[in-house]
Amino acid sequence: MEKFQESMYQLIVETSTKLPKDVRRAIARAKARENAGTRAAMALTTIAGNIQMADENVSPICQDTGLPTFKIKVPVGVNQIKMKEAIRRAIAQATKDGKLRPNSVDSLTGENSGDNLGDGVPVIKFEQWENDYIDVRLILKGGGCENKNIQYSLPCELEGLGRAGRDLDGIRKCILHAVYQAQGQGCSAGFIGVGIGGDRSAGYELAKEQLFRSVDDVNPNEELRQLEDYIMENANKLGIGTMGFGGETTLLGCKIGVMHRIPASFFVSVAYNCWAFRRLGVKIDPETGEIQEWFYQEGEDVDFAKELEKAEEKQSIPTEGREIVLEAPLTEEQVRQLKVGDVVRINGTMYTGRDAIHKHLMDHDAPVDLNGQIIYHCGPVMLKDENGKWHVKAAGPTTSIREEPYQGDIMKKFGIRAVIGKGGMGAKTLAALKEHGGVYLNAIGGAAQYYADCIKSVEGVDFLEFGIPEAMWHLRVENFTAVVTMDSHGNSLHEDVEKSSLEKLAQFKEPVFK
Ligand code: SF4
Repeated sequence: MEKFQESMYQLIVETSTKLPKDVRRAIARAKARENAGTRAAMALTTIAGNIQMADENVSPICQDTGLPTFKIKVPVGVNQIKMKEAIRRAIAQATKDGKLRPNSVDSLTGENSGDNLGDGVPVIKFEQWENDYIDVRLILKGGGCENKNIQYSLPCELEGLGRAGRDLDGIRKCILHAVYQAQGQGCSAGFIGVGIGGDRSAGYELAKEQLFRSVDDVNPNEELRQLEDYIMENANKLGIGTMGFGGETTLLGCKIGVMHRIPASFFVSVAYNCWAFRRLGVKIDPETGEIQEWFYQEGEDVDFAKELEKAEEKQSIPTEGREIVLEAPLTEEQVRQLKVGDVVRINGTMYTGRDAIHKHLMDHDAPVDLNGQIIYHCGPVMLKDENGKWHVKAAGPTTSIREEPYQGDIMKKFGIRAVIGKGGMGAKTLAALKEHGGVYLNAIGGAAQYYADCIKSVEGVDFLEFGIPEAMWHLRVENFTAVVTMDSHGNSLHEDVEKSSLEKLAQFKEPVFK
């Protein structure tokens, strides 16, 4: 079991820090399709740089560990209880080593266990089979994309697409709608797994199972193969693009599975995964516990260092938005000059704040003067050295919309001038930005290594009792790049892209599959 535990540790570290070859190729294809100088091209260049840095530093690609999920097939006679214990020890060790963020919290108290262990965490599912080896697959699927999963019960009415019936064409409409409703909030461009049939839980299970297929495989079911091809060809016409900035690529992969159902129910379940598609697998020798083979590694690899060189040449002439350097703290005048589409490069101090802090600040004072300051929606991976000094291991943005009920009020209460996050915010925040003089900046979701590199020092921390991801970290940054997507003049790029993609969705209303 010692060797098996070591193998599981290797699998966890590799999954968290290095994207598999099939995913890398899909991202490189998207990058090649994007027009030089656009916001989408800039986002994809940042993503490529981030993948490269994660490779080099053996650090998490994204700060959001998600819910580690293991799917294991074992020959008869293998001790599953001992395997489970070994996996839990490997997870705790990887968390201690800064390869995973402590991400398991008590659902009722919110208390973080600190080691990624908890009731039902990690998820470990066993299945017996006739083969003589162990097959272990692991997926780290973050919250931003998990929250964009969706389930349809057919027949139903779909925004933009009308009636979706209980047939292949109805399924087609559900899948297109699933891509539309995710917008950029799940860190697009994404991959989707679709489960047709089952009950509600089996449908989602089947949808997630599809995420373990290789991006390049071909569905053996001819009808589903055609549907997968159709979705890949047409979903990108919605124009949502990387991070929802608009652009040529919205979807990187679509895999569809089917199972029987009962006559009364017809579910189509969709599991959405971000570009940071961290899933790997290994073949294990049941006698020794050693890794015999890594999965998803066939075919050509992408050298992102070379891709970046090419991008640098092409990006030398930006065609969209202005480029503005900001020094924090900010004045109202500075902020009111910013317009949607501007690319900002920030120097100075910013303060992280997520769900717990936003809720807390509604009824309490802030521990520091936030007047003119920048709040960063981020739950970083942090490590403390032997001298008690904190180091940032990964620090990309988290989904901002969760703070919608609080954000506007908090900005006005404390005089905050800018909020950085991903996926955009709603009408209440947009109104507050206009009234108060504030701006929303969209950072590149999942680019946790890129942003960690922009953080030059950790100047302090408050609310550590909320757990590492929820604490307020005081970070001094240099050249921190983000895009203005909501400004103080009532403009929102998110609103615009949602509206135009809904219009484009309507072109798919007519039946395609009889
Ligand atoms: S890339 Fe985005 S959606 Fe994916 S895990 Fe990271 S923050 Fe979450």
